[in-house]
Parts: sequence; C-alpha cells; structure tokens
Amino acid sequence: MRCRGCEYELWNMKPGGCPECGRQWRFEDFRFRPFSAQFLCPHCDHTYGGTDPQGLPIPRAFICAACKQPIDLDQMRALPAPQTDGSRAMDDVHPWSERSRLGYWRSFWQTVGQSMSQPSQVGRTLPERTNLKSALFFSLLCSTIGIVFSTSPLLLLIGVGSLRGMSGIEYVLIFVAQLIGVVLGSAILGQILFLLWGSCSHAILRMGGDVRRPLLDTLSATLFCTGPFIISAVPCCGFYILWVSFIWMAVAMIYAFVTLHNVSGFRASVAVLLPILAVLVAAALTIGGAILMSNNSTWSSSGFKWNTTSTPNVSPNVLPNIPPSPSAVEQVDGESNAQVLPPLGPEAPEK
Ligand SMILES: [Zn+2]
Ligand SMILES: [Zn+2]
Repeated sequence: MRCRGCEYELWNMKPGGCPECGRQWRFEDFRFRPFSAQFLCPHCDHTYGGTDPQGLPIPRAFICAACKQPIDLDQMRALPAPQTDGSRAMDDVHPWSERSRLGYWRSFWQTVGQSMSQPSQVGRTLPERTNLKSALFFSLLCSTIGIVFSTSPLLLLIGVGSLRGMSGIEYVLIFVAQLIGVVLGSAILGQILFLLWGSCSHAILRMGGDVRRPLLDTLSATLFCTGPFIISAVPCCGFYILWVSFIWMAVAMIYAFVTLHNVSGFRASVAVLLPILAVLVAAALTIGGAILMSNNSTWSSSGFKWNTTSTPNVSPNVLPNIPPSPSAVEQVDGESNAQVLPPLGPEAPEK
C-alpha cells in the first residue's frame, strides 16, 4: 500500500497526511484484495480481516470485540495478512508501474490485459506521478509487436515475389530494412496520433467543466489504452483487425477517463469520440470536394467525350454522317478512342 503522491509505504500507519509528501489518504481510497490485509484496533491491536469486496472490514465503525471500545476504520492501522509481505495485497496497483517488481514481461501482459478487459482500472490506478515516457514506452512496445507480426509475413511474400538474381544475404538485408522502416514509421506515427487524440480529448473535457488530473495524465491514460492493438498481431490479417483494435481502444479510453477525471460517461464519450468524428467529417468533406471538383472539370473541359461515347450506342446509323471532329479526338485520349471506334465498322454495314 503506497502513497498515490510519492509511493511512500503506508502499511502500519493511521490514515491522514503522508509523512513524505503530506498528501491526505484514507483506506477507502484504495482497493485491497479481500482477506489480504488486516486492520488493527487503535486501543488493543486486536486484528480484523478485510473481508468486503474492497478488502476492508465491515462495518466500518463498530465496538471492538476484545477491548469493548468504539472504533472507526479511520483510526485503524493496516498490516498485510499473516504470512504475506503485502506485495500482492493491493487490487489497484497499475501493473506497468510495478514492472521492477513483477518483471517487464509479466507487467507488460498485465497492463495489456487491464486496458483490454478492465479499462476503468487504467484511470483508477494511474499513479499521480506518471512518467509520460514510461507510458510512451509501453504504447510503442504494444504497437511494435502488433505491426511486426502483422506485416512481416506480407513483406516476406512481397520480397519473395521480387526475388530476381538476388543473393540470400541481399534478400535478408532488404527484408530487414523494409521491416524496420515500416515498423518504426507506423509505430512513431501511431504515437503521434495517440498523443494528438489524447490532447484533443483533454481540451474537450476541460471545456465541459473541471477535470481531476492534468493533461500529462490524460495522455498517459490514452497511451495505456493501446493494449487492444496487440490483437492486430495476427499475421496478415492485422490491417483488417486494426479497426477492431481502434474501436476497442476508444471504448477503453472512455472507461479510463470516467475514473481518471471522475466525469460522467457522457462527457467522457463526447471527449473521446468528438475528435474522431471531426476527422471523419473532414475526410468525407475533402473526398466529397475532390470528387465534385473533378466532376466539374470533366463537364466543363470535355463535353465532347459525352457525345463521342454516347452517340454510337443510340444511333449507329447516323454516326458515319458526323465523324468526330479533330478537336474531339484530341480531347479524348488515344487509347479510349481506339477502343470505342473499331466496333462501329462491323456494326454499321449490318443495318
Ligand atoms: Zn506521499
Ligand atoms: Zn480493541
């Protein structure tokens, strides 16, 4: 059990101010695993197990069975359950900040699991002194694993396809260079996009009212929600699964922001989804505008194209009388003209 402000060990201490940083704390701020902590009577040190779902004694205020004095949870001290060292007592520890104790491999998979299945825990357990660099490291690791596994078989196949007079070493070198390029490029681009997304969401949350944590924590929470990208590691199918991961991450972010900033689900949803909607609308407008522009230029610059292609189908007999003018031939490119004109010859004599 550690202080949320400075990681100071709080076992065997009464709730109140942290001796290291002065941050106020109560047992209710933490989640213990049930039966993994015991709470001591302030008068006689008689112990009571933490048995409720939050790992705290029920009721919170009662008469001590040993010394018969009234006691309250806020007067008690907590110790790890007998024969334990308390390292597994907490249910609200962010696994990534425990990686020195758990080991990188285990804490990585626990963090992935947390962001995929219990995203509200991401917001609840995010330490107050989160290091954005460590969140970026996790997110990079996640996306790199996803991209390496999803793209390497494709690159390998493409490489085999273009294998012409190449030696084995050349082929391997080119494959490795391509892989590094693709992985680094998309992983770094991904992190930039996630940071932009998190920043926009934080700005929208701020517009809607108060937020509990600063921008850096919102960004860290966003990066810790990238766990679902691990499923895009399925070889070759990764690009199709990417959309599932993306939606999954958005849902995880909503849950994480609700607990991180103590805001309503609606506010969190608006903050997470609005930037995506804005990007989609902007993309639709750009594509729509581009199509409209190209249509306009087709109408104004090559009206002849419509005449030359439609008249043969409607009335082939009339066509010999109005051969396409030299200017029309110039407008339509040579290739399409060559395809349109030959069928006219055989068709005209039949009629
Ligand atoms: Zn502290
Ligand atoms: Zn007592």
